[in-house]
Amino acid sequence: MDNKLNEDFSTVESLKKELNEKNKLIELFTNEKNESELLSFPWVGNLGQWYWLIDSNKVYFNEKKVSNLGYESSEIPAFVDFQFFTEKLHKDDYERVMNNMRNHLSGKTESYEVEYRIRTKDNCYKWYHDRGKITKRDEDGNPLIVSGIVFDISRSKKIEAELKEANFKLTQLLIHDDLTKIYNRRFLLEEIEKLLKLNDPKFSLILFDIDHFKLVNDKYGHDVGDKVLIEVCKVTNDIVSDNGYLCRFGGEEFIILLKNLSLKQSVDIAQKVRKGIEMFTFSKCERVTASFGVSTYEKGQDINKLIKTVDSLMFSAKSAGRNCVKF
Ligand code: GH3
Ligand code: MG
Ligand code: MG
Repeated sequence: MDNKLNEDFSTVESLKKELNEKNKLIELFTNEKNESELLSFPWVGNLGQWYWLIDSNKVYFNEKKVSNLGYESSEIPAFVDFQFFTEKLHKDDYERVMNNMRNHLSGKTESYEVEYRIRTKDNCYKWYHDRGKITKRDEDGNPLIVSGIVFDISRSKKIEAELKEANFKLTQLLIHDDLTKIYNRRFLLEEIEKLLKLNDPKFSLILFDIDHFKLVNDKYGHDVGDKVLIEVCKVTNDIVSDNGYLCRFGGEEFIILLKNLSLKQSVDIAQKVRKGIEMFTFSKCERVTASFGVSTYEKGQDINKLIKTVDSLMFSAKSAGRNCVKF
């Protein structure tokens, strides 16, 4: 055991020497003469170095790696074991980090490089970007020391998360209708575009248009008209549920995109929506109905033609007295 300790200390001494030599090199390239400044060079900003002595499982590190986690200098020992850090890893990152290190130790990767969350003393998490490499092996080639450098990337991770969130919000704005919050025409066309890329796309469209909607506006005002549109969407969405997407195609005209349903199943859904709207008690307007056109996509069909088809079918429904479904 004593031998082991001596070995460790001599390793640490040689690591310190290595650091000093590197600092001398830095001195050659800078005007910096102050030794303590130089020694702190690898630790300025948000990075620090570490050395893991595998056999004795001791990690030698600059105190910044730990003080950055909220520990006082007095709490920071000269050595800790590997687990001192790994037990602080976020549970969702633990396996990934371990695998990354295992892969490097077994020779599968050139280096160990991983990003993870690590728990601070006050139970928050910081993001570290850690990178290391086997720098010493025994005569048989077994790894003895892994040397590494760690960066605190919490700030850039925070910015990245904020950007992701902002990006998500923008994308949502781009594909939703402002008034009714359902999907818009852009989303519908993009979704169809995606379907058309499949081998054998199977989908149908229900187009419906609110009957005599102009009268609603004329009689109750535009605000009530807006409210009716919102309520029609709510009723429809409750019926369509996971079967498809309800999109505002324009004004008081909507298209439901249904995936993998037969014409009969699609017509059934259209009938349910028609009845749902007819039976719904709107908050400020007595009776609202809509007229429907339904058609399924046929392989090779031009999508504008399909939309024209459901549009003409909807107009047939209007001609047939409104509040009905044509297919
Ligand atoms: P039809 O049964 O033939 O479809 O008759 P209609 O009155 O519904 O059709 P028309 O095309 O004559 O009128 C549609 C009306 O929808 C006119 C327009 O002001 C109204 N509208 C379109 N978008 C909105 C909206 O966002 N809010 C409100 N309140 N009204 C809208
Ligand atoms: Mg209308
Ligand atoms: Mg219309």
